[in-house]
Amino acid sequence: MGIVKNYEKIRDFSIAIVGLGGVGSVTSEMLTRCGIGKLLLFDFDTVSLANMNRLFFTPDQAGMSKVDASQSTLSKINPDVTFECYNYNICTVDNFDDFLSRLSNGGKTQGTPVDLVLSCVDNFDARMTVNQACNELNIKWMESGVSEDAVSGHIQFIIPGQTACYQCAPPLVVASGVKQVKREGVCAASLPTTMGITAGFLAQNVLKYLLDFGTTSYYLGYSAMTDFFPTMIVRPNPSCTNKYCQIRQQEYLEKVERDPSLNLVKEEEKEEPVVHEENEWGIEVVCSVDEEEIVSGLQELTTGVDYAFMRSDEIKPQIAQDEKVVVGDDTDLDELRRQLEGL
Ligand SMILES: [Zn+2]
Repeated sequence: MGIVKNYEKIRDFSIAIVGLGGVGSVTSEMLTRCGIGKLLLFDFDTVSLANMNRLFFTPDQAGMSKVDASQSTLSKINPDVTFECYNYNICTVDNFDDFLSRLSNGGKTQGTPVDLVLSCVDNFDARMTVNQACNELNIKWMESGVSEDAVSGHIQFIIPGQTACYQCAPPLVVASGVKQVKREGVCAASLPTTMGITAGFLAQNVLKYLLDFGTTSYYLGYSAMTDFFPTMIVRPNPSCTNKYCQIRQQEYLEKVERDPSLNLVKEEEKEEPVVHEENEWGIEVVCSVDEEEIVSGLQELTTGVDYAFMRSDEIKPQIAQDEKVVVGDDTDLDELRRQLEGL
C-alpha cells in the first residue's frame, strides 16, 4: 500500500485506549477500520445524550457503558479485531493492579504486553495513573488532550526514559490563554472538529510509529484559532520525582552508551546543550529535524506551546520587591500583621 510497505502487520498489534470520550472513541474507530489486531478499552463512564455533539456514539446507546457501546459498534465495523473491555476507573488501588496486569498481558499473543497505550482522558489524575503504569512497565504511550475552550489540542509520544514523562515537567499545552487540564466543576466546551482532528493526529502517529513510516511526532500541537502546529521533543528531567522514570532514564543512558545510534539527540546538538541557565526543571527541548526550533527551559518552549500550570512545590516563588514585607528590629507582631493584610 504505497509508502507503507508492511501495512498488513497492523493486525499483529495490540493497543490499550484509556478514555472513550471525544478523542478516544474516534481514535478507536480509526484503528478498528485500519485493521488493528486488538484493542483494550478502559472507561467507567456511560454514554449520555448531552455528548451527541461529539462523534461516534449514537442516541440509542444512551445509558450504556461507553466500553460496551464502543465494542458493539466497533465489532460490527470490523469483526476481525479482538476487544477487551474494562468498565472501571483506573485510578483506584484495586483497579490499578488490574490495569497493570492487563497492560502486561494484553498483547496480541497472550501473556505479552500491549504495544502501546493511548491516554485519551480529560483529567490530571488519570493521566498521572497512565504515566505511573507505563513508567513501571516500561510501555510506550501517547498522551492526547483538547483544551477546555475546545480550540486547541495536542498529542505527545512518551517513551519511558527517553522522552519527558508526565511527571518530568508540568503538562505542555498549546498556548491559547485557557489551561487544558480539567478544573473541578467546569464543564468543558466541546467541538467535534477539534476532537476529531486531535484523534486523527493520534491515530496517524500510532500508524507511523507501529508501521515505521514518516516521522513520528513526539509533541504535536494544534491551534484552531491560527491553524498553527508546533512540534518538538522534550527530554526527560534527570530530577523527575517518579522513581520508575529515573530507572528508565538510567537504563536508556546505558543503552545509548553501548549503541550511540539509539540516541534521540544528534551528536552535534549534544555539543551545544540548550539548557537555559534558569532552567529549574533541567528540561531540554530538542528537535528531530533541522527546521524545528530548538528551545528549552520553563520560559523558552517552542512558540505556541505553554505549560498547563506551575506546580507550587517545585517552582521557587518569585516575589516582586515591592510585595515584600520589610521587618525592622522594632516591628511588633501587630504591625507585621497589618503589613501582611495590606498586601
Ligand atoms: Zn519523568
